Amino acid sequence: MRHVKIGVPKEVADGETRVGVVPETVARMIKDGFEVVVESGAGRDYNPDADYEEAGASIVEDASGVYDEADVIVKVSRPEEGEVEKFREGQTLICFLNGPQYPELVEKLAGAGVTVFSNESIPRTSVAQSMDALSSMGSIAGYKCALIAADTLGKYVPMLSTAAGTTKAAKVLVFGVAVAGLQAIAIMNRLGAEVFAYDVRPETKEQAQSLGASFVDSDDEEDDEGDDSEAEDEYVEYEPKGFNKFMTSLGFYSYAKPPEDEYIIEGEEEPEDEEEDEGWSKEKLGRDQELLRERIQEMDIVITTALIPGRTAPVLVDTEMVESMKPGSVVADLAAENGGNCELTEPGETVEHEGVRIVGPVNLPSAMPIHASQLLSRNMYNLLGHLTEDQSEDKDSKDPQLNLDFEDEIIDKTCIAHGGEVRHEPTREALEKQEPSQESEAN
Ligand code: NAD
Repeated sequence: MRHVKIGVPKEVADGETRVGVVPETVARMIKDGFEVVVESGAGRDYNPDADYEEAGASIVEDASGVYDEADVIVKVSRPEEGEVEKFREGQTLICFLNGPQYPELVEKLAGAGVTVFSNESIPRTSVAQSMDALSSMGSIAGYKCALIAADTLGKYVPMLSTAAGTTKAAKVLVFGVAVAGLQAIAIMNRLGAEVFAYDVRPETKEQAQSLGASFVDSDDEEDDEGDDSEAEDEYVEYEPKGFNKFMTSLGFYSYAKPPEDEYIIEGEEEPEDEEEDEGWSKEKLGRDQELLRERIQEMDIVITTALIPGRTAPVLVDTEMVESMKPGSVVADLAAENGGNCELTEPGETVEHEGVRIVGPVNLPSAMPIHASQLLSRNMYNLLGHLTEDQSEDKDSKDPQLNLDFEDEIIDKTCIAHGGEVRHEPTREALEKQEPSQESEAN
């Protein structure tokens, strides 16, 4: 059997500056027994063709060369028009392909006999963490969004004592405490801001606090009566240790959460924790909303991060909330590309409303292409390792071949099309929803 050939085309989507595989990964792939073909210029200026060649890849002048030769195409964005036609039966594609948002594209690829793996569908489990491109990119987006917000603000973020007097630290409120939100909290904290955070998931409170943010919680307000110092004294911070500390320092903030076994003593029942199991009550969420409406008025920066793949972003900051903010404040909306968490966000634009600037950056990882490509490429390498098995009969050489065991959770969930079928339930549902409207259009 011939060696599996990985193909790396140059991204063609507007504003996409990343590449799916960087030279460092090519060298590892070659060592593992893969072959690699790269389109000239795929790595942009920061990963020149010569580096790919040195790592063992062959360079072809145009994308067709990659699609003709490769068995597995690793790219960043979903295939654009003009790329889809280049695929052939039996090929495998790995990329960000938001199935429910682009169901017809998945159907077309499935129809052409392409096996499709979507990065958005990688399960968020600890086993899959090394392949979780959504987390790597989320972390970059959170970092960049925090820096953009700081850069847009006409103030210092830290408290500064100068000969001309002291400036106050900026107050920052981060909505959404998942991968991107945690990174935004960490960066703002390092910049010296006074950081506040909010999420609808109870377990995020401790995670936000472990990174130095105060969690906006209507339950705490009743005890607080405006005295912050008391609340801080009562809170015992969770400090990740050992491996968890190391992973947290690398930016994998899910490790900032205390491991479950720290709560459970062997042989004992799991402690009852209604908040964790069932989430917060509607009534508490309503009180939190009221409190957020009050607290937002003090903020210099609001960063919103509830960008849920495949779904229109929920509105967390409405026009009234923006109008209550001080002139000169900034809203940085990381969810801009899915409609935005702020009602006034314009994707890709900065708009000003009553003196408040609302920034709606799109494709933030592309604003940091070097590390974004490097991390994505490592995720892709780990995923490929999971999808293949060494079939070499010679112990001195390696020959990884695709081995798609759909009993495996990662393969089952990540593979959205195979054998001519769309395998991904949400994508199939999106297709079914479209069908009646297409029929009525035809009539
Ligand atoms: P996401 O981008 O899907 O969502 C961002 C955050 O916004 C979430 O925390 C969500 O609860 C929050 N949110 C939604 N509506 C909100 C509202 N009205 N107000 C405030 N906040 C709101 O998040 P993600 O980074 O993709 O992570 C998704 C999940 O996967 C999280 O539970 C995360 O902890 C988990 N995760 C696990 C791993 C792992 O264990 N390997 C890795 C990454 C993420």
